[in-house]
Amino acid sequence: MENEEIVVSKNFIEQIIEKDLAEGYYDHVQTRFPPEPNGYLHIGHAKSILLNYGLAQKYGGKFNMRFDDTNPTKEKIEFVESIKKDIQWLGADWEDRLFFASDYFPQMYEAAIKLIKKGKAYVCDLSPEEIREYRGTLTEPGKESPYRNRSVEENLELFENMKNGVYKDGEKVLRAKIDMSSPNINMRDPIIYRVAHMTHHNTGDTWCIYPMYDFAHPIEDAIEGITHSICTLEFEDHRPLYDWVVTELEYPHPPKQIEFAKLYLTNVITGKRYIKKLVEDGIVDGWDDPRLVSISALRRRGFTPESIKMFVDLVGVAKANSSVDYAMLEYCIREDLKLKKPRVMAVLDPVKLIIDNYPEDIVEELEVANNLENPELGSRKVPFCKELYIEREDFMEEPPKKYFRLFPGNEVRLMNAYFVTCTGCVKDEDGNVVEVHCTYDPETRSGSGFEGRKVKGTIHWVSARHAAQAEVRLYENIVDEEKGKLNEDGSLNLNPNSLVVLDKCYVEPSLAIAEPEEKFQFVRKGFFCVDSKDSTKEHLVFNRIVSMKSSFKLPAAN
Ligand code: ATP
Ligand code: MG
Repeated sequence: MENEEIVVSKNFIEQIIEKDLAEGYYDHVQTRFPPEPNGYLHIGHAKSILLNYGLAQKYGGKFNMRFDDTNPTKEKIEFVESIKKDIQWLGADWEDRLFFASDYFPQMYEAAIKLIKKGKAYVCDLSPEEIREYRGTLTEPGKESPYRNRSVEENLELFENMKNGVYKDGEKVLRAKIDMSSPNINMRDPIIYRVAHMTHHNTGDTWCIYPMYDFAHPIEDAIEGITHSICTLEFEDHRPLYDWVVTELEYPHPPKQIEFAKLYLTNVITGKRYIKKLVEDGIVDGWDDPRLVSISALRRRGFTPESIKMFVDLVGVAKANSSVDYAMLEYCIREDLKLKKPRVMAVLDPVKLIIDNYPEDIVEELEVANNLENPELGSRKVPFCKELYIEREDFMEEPPKKYFRLFPGNEVRLMNAYFVTCTGCVKDEDGNVVEVHCTYDPETRSGSGFEGRKVKGTIHWVSARHAAQAEVRLYENIVDEEKGKLNEDGSLNLNPNSLVVLDKCYVEPSLAIAEPEEKFQFVRKGFFCVDSKDSTKEHLVFNRIVSMKSSFKLPAAN
């Protein structure tokens, strides 16, 4: 079509940003990723990271990394380190802007004083239960605290006492003075500071009062000059409070909160609570078990930052919660790896194939293309000799119809090598096939231009005398797909086949020197990655990232 209009669909956040820039509401874009260091990041966080980083990049702005560490109870340095590593791996670059919300405790304290002085905050002596009672419900308005009308002077003195450790935990709180009859419960004089005699991982024992999230977060954003503070939908009802805080504190270019829907994936576990239990019960091998979707688990399984970015882009940014099919993530990793990685031969369930008419002492070095679709990956040499391993399933003594692989009398192509005709097999006393026998036709060597006849089946193989032995781990969803994630008692409905270990596999000798995290396509079997935790030169371990089969189809572009 001529004059075809190129319609670039923008997500709703981009539309807001473009409007803000066009109207001069902001003259730049600054976003942030604010994790609480209380666990490992997962695929949902990856979405938020790439969204925030992507927007900063797109509009020539800046992306900040900020640990939201205002709650001293659950936070740990171990998590700070893992989070930094994961974000760097994803490629989101915070340059020199790595911040800790706890570094702003002095400014937050000053902000509280400012509110008190404006008559917008007061110290309240009600107990936590009374505060809850006074708050009212969705249908009933709240009741004002008897301490609501303390004088500014009294509030200043009491708040200072709070800071100086005069009170026990829970004895007094500082509350914003907003509106006890607001239809939005978050606006009914929310607590903004509490007394907590706890040691903080960053500030130690400097403070015994800590700001509440809804008060701290807008201040952190404002201090850093954030323009668009992007968070997930559960904070939508908190936005009026966010706006109240930045307005009352009179920041010149206050940030704006924008909510989007969380990413949920089918058949995987993302909740920290469940993952923690699986780790603690020893059902999985730590937070990076390849069956999990923490970022470290995805990395160990063999996913790439590019595949995760493609996935996040495909999912898009929405305002309504929905669940995305795991198969879409698999589609993305296949797409990313298919042209980038060598396609090699590996036999996962081996049985010997002996070529009876092949000379005993000859080894041919066959030149094999690394990736038929990408010549740039070059080629490698693969040894071929009289004794090979093939997949057990590639031989059948009594084949069903349409079985085109090896059976007595049938001819197949050995991938990259010769045509062979099966002559029979040898079995052990239990009737298991231990050797398959065949003869080869020297005229049919691959690449020789032989065109005499065609065969219907091609099977892969490795040289039994040269292959490297390997352990291969195959994965399925950790929860049972058919029956649903949870049992009636709320426990996880685990899939007993989520990990299958094949410990006597053979791979081409070239793979013996593969490095941790190196990735390959194994012909007919899928994409595999050298396990970064357990693989050694003496004991190779490969994780299957994804099989070749796909149940996901990219929707046709309209
Ligand atoms: P979880 O509930 O899994 O523990 P969280 O929201 O408590 O996650 P935070 O460290 O507080 O974790 O979140 C950091 C940022 O990541 C927040 O901006 C949050 O909105 C965002 N985020 C968390 N989960 C998801 C998700 N599933 N999809 C998109 N963004 C998410
Ligand atoms: Mg949280």
